[in-house]
Amino acid sequence: MKVIKIGGGCLKGNSVVGEIIHLIAKQGKGDIFVLSALSGVTNILVQGMEKALKDEKSIPETINLLRKKHHDLARYLVGRGDALKKIRQKLAPFLTTIERYLFGLNFTREATPRMQDMIACQGERLSVLLISEILKTRKIDAGFIMPEDAGIITDGKFKDATALLPRTSKNLKQSVLPHLSPEKILLIPGFYGISESNEITTFGRGGSDYSAAVVAAAMDADILEIWKDTKGFMSADPSAVPGARLIPELSYGEAAELAYSGAGILHPRTVEPVRKKGIAIAIKNTLHPDGPGSLITARKSQAGRVIKSVSHTRDISILKVHASGVGARPGILAQIAGSLSRADINIKSVVTSQTCISLLLSPDDIKKSHTVLKKLVPRPFRELEKITDIALISIVGEGLHRQRGIAAGCFTAVSHARVNIEMISFGPSKAALYFMVREKDLETSVNALHNYFFTD
Ligand code: ASP
Ligand code: MG
Repeated sequence: MKVIKIGGGCLKGNSVVGEIIHLIAKQGKGDIFVLSALSGVTNILVQGMEKALKDEKSIPETINLLRKKHHDLARYLVGRGDALKKIRQKLAPFLTTIERYLFGLNFTREATPRMQDMIACQGERLSVLLISEILKTRKIDAGFIMPEDAGIITDGKFKDATALLPRTSKNLKQSVLPHLSPEKILLIPGFYGISESNEITTFGRGGSDYSAAVVAAAMDADILEIWKDTKGFMSADPSAVPGARLIPELSYGEAAELAYSGAGILHPRTVEPVRKKGIAIAIKNTLHPDGPGSLITARKSQAGRVIKSVSHTRDISILKVHASGVGARPGILAQIAGSLSRADINIKSVVTSQTCISLLLSPDDIKKSHTVLKKLVPRPFRELEKITDIALISIVGEGLHRQRGIAAGCFTAVSHARVNIEMISFGPSKAALYFMVREKDLETSVNALHNYFFTD
């Protein structure tokens, strides 16, 4: 049995969704599908919350937008008859629920993380309902099970939950197995699970990939397929590097590094659950279903090429904490990390020297981090410095730390391009080498590096 995840990016445009539904019907019997919300729906929900906090009148607008998106798709695919009427009736209570939640926000003027998760996850619920109903109109035996009924159990952390795998696995085997048969298509909404105290908790934006990996691991699937509207993992971001090429095969380690370092192909934690079970992940392009895509397995580097990708992200900034004798003062890192974590700020990475701790943060968090650290008494540092016009480049390839000359090659390539490297981190990961350049130098650097590693 396969677990197949269908991303929101491909659930876009009525005729494209029609083709995907055709693919599901043709290829998916006996398999489990984990679905994202239709394209744009989670954003409508998130923006709907912000608007509802300020203005009650926005609520009917948000609901109309959601209703129209789903009804239009249904009408396009099933026509105007009784089938459409039935689908509208089935969607109605789901839309009413969202409407009530939004009024709740408006009354209380408060969007707790708990409420945000309860609302944000609704797009996935609408999409499984709609797509299973459309499949049924085509005489396909399709059904769905919600994560709370399936028993996808999480650690309870709102907006960034992690699944508790042993319990989830036990639950899913009991709840899902009876619904599987060689003729049937079973859909599960991605993006969220339920905590031990029955709270809806999402896995963070883009979390349906992770949901699918959890279901695949829990059900011991033969393979996890991720259907996307892109080819797969690329040797660089094609919008910055015209010669970027598809990476046909990657190891789990490489895929995890690329997911973290901004390739935007997979939710960063997708690899974790399936890696433990040795389940391969195949990235497939719904626009070219017979194309090769990328295959992620335990297999380490193929002969020849060590470097698989030169990826980058602008979603990074640095907070430099200047203090003397950092390396000789016990507890300073813990104090800084502790206060940031209590403020719910995620440290992406840390690089330290004797005189400075450089915290790699999301640009959204830099101001808040600055404020939090400024409040520490006694102040454990001399000065704080924010650096925001910076970008992170990752050179990814399993075994790069064992191959002589890789770091030297990177430096040469970048310095020939007349770019100054701001910071480097080499060693913590077996599959990646990171460095930072000024944002203005990003495209030049990435192209220079890609040319250097991908000449043939
Ligand atoms: N719909 C959610 C999002 O847009 C989850 C996902 O699609 O993976 O973030
Ligand atoms: Mg996604």
